[in-house]
Amino acid sequence: MKPAAFSHLRAETPAAVADGLQAENSKIIAGGQSLGPMLNLRLARPTQLVGLNILPGMEAASERGDTIVIGAGVTHARIEDGACGVDLPPMMRHVARSIAYRAVRNKGTIGGSLAHADPAADWVTVMTALDASLLLHAPDGSQRRLPMRDFMLGAYRTALAPREYVEAVEVATTMRGALWGYDKLCRKVGEFADAIGALVLDPSTGYARLVAGATGARPLILSGLAGDIARNARHPGEAAVHTALTEQLPDSDPVKLHLLTTALCRAIEKVIPA
Ligand SMILES: Cc1cc2nc3c(=O)[nH]c(=O)nc-3n(C[C@H](O)[C@H](O)[C@H](O)COP(=O)(O)OP(=O)(O)OC[C@H]3O[C@@H](n4cnc5c(N)ncnc54)[C@H](O)[C@@H]3O)c2cc1C
Repeated sequence: MKPAAFSHLRAETPAAVADGLQAENSKIIAGGQSLGPMLNLRLARPTQLVGLNILPGMEAASERGDTIVIGAGVTHARIEDGACGVDLPPMMRHVARSIAYRAVRNKGTIGGSLAHADPAADWVTVMTALDASLLLHAPDGSQRRLPMRDFMLGAYRTALAPREYVEAVEVATTMRGALWGYDKLCRKVGEFADAIGALVLDPSTGYARLVAGATGARPLILSGLAGDIARNARHPGEAAVHTALTEQLPDSDPVKLHLLTTALCRAIEKVIPA
């Protein structure tokens, strides 16, 4: 199929984005790796697409004080290659490598992935585990900062207000030194996940977060287990992980719970051997 006709605006300023998004049935496009197929299948039929990638700072990463600022237009490939201009937490390079295949990574962006909010996507889980914040740009030019844990509301649902866009993703510089484990279960290399487990521990700050991803909804933070792991420096064991998941996801089917348990146990094992 071919998409229905649309116009394309390459916005050079935030004001141009706000103007462009005022057109009825307009939509932002970044890498087009999720939106493109939806256009082709005519599941989305915007009359105008507004491209953000030439906005200043969108494709760059920088360091401000104790924060790494990653422009929403930075591609998965540049994260994979370590070609962002700043050192990113090693977990990010590792994860970028397992997103889709290189052609998708060349175009797909971190901001597009977070805004799309596919529950099975990698960045939504990783950015929750790394306690990232999103810098959001409103049509009146104001900005607000939202922790990733409050950004994704559910499958394909975010806290973005109408005509607001993701400008950047912010991660604390201390996350470069954090201990981490990540495990993604999928049938073929380069596919979306069936289950994700992510653990981030930073003994220098006492930060500990364990996250289950690809649950079918937003990433699930398992605070009790993460606290136990940080306190005891011990793997809680498969039974405890399964119990914690069952309590939080009582309606999940047994296969999903088994996959999530396996992914979480493997992620924990990468930091603390069982
Ligand atoms: C074959 C295939 C396999 C894939 N496998 C994986 C995988 O294993 N793991 C994974 O995580 N992802 C996977 N993806 C998705 C891929 O990572 C996409 O790059 C990503 O989901 C969307 O990013 P994009 O920049 O292409 O966004 P687009 O497709 O351009 O946009 C997606 C949505 O986000 C909105 N949007 C984009 N940027 C912004 C912004 N800055 N602010 C507000 N809204 C915005 C758009 O309006 C649209 O609704 C796969 C995709 C394909 C085609």
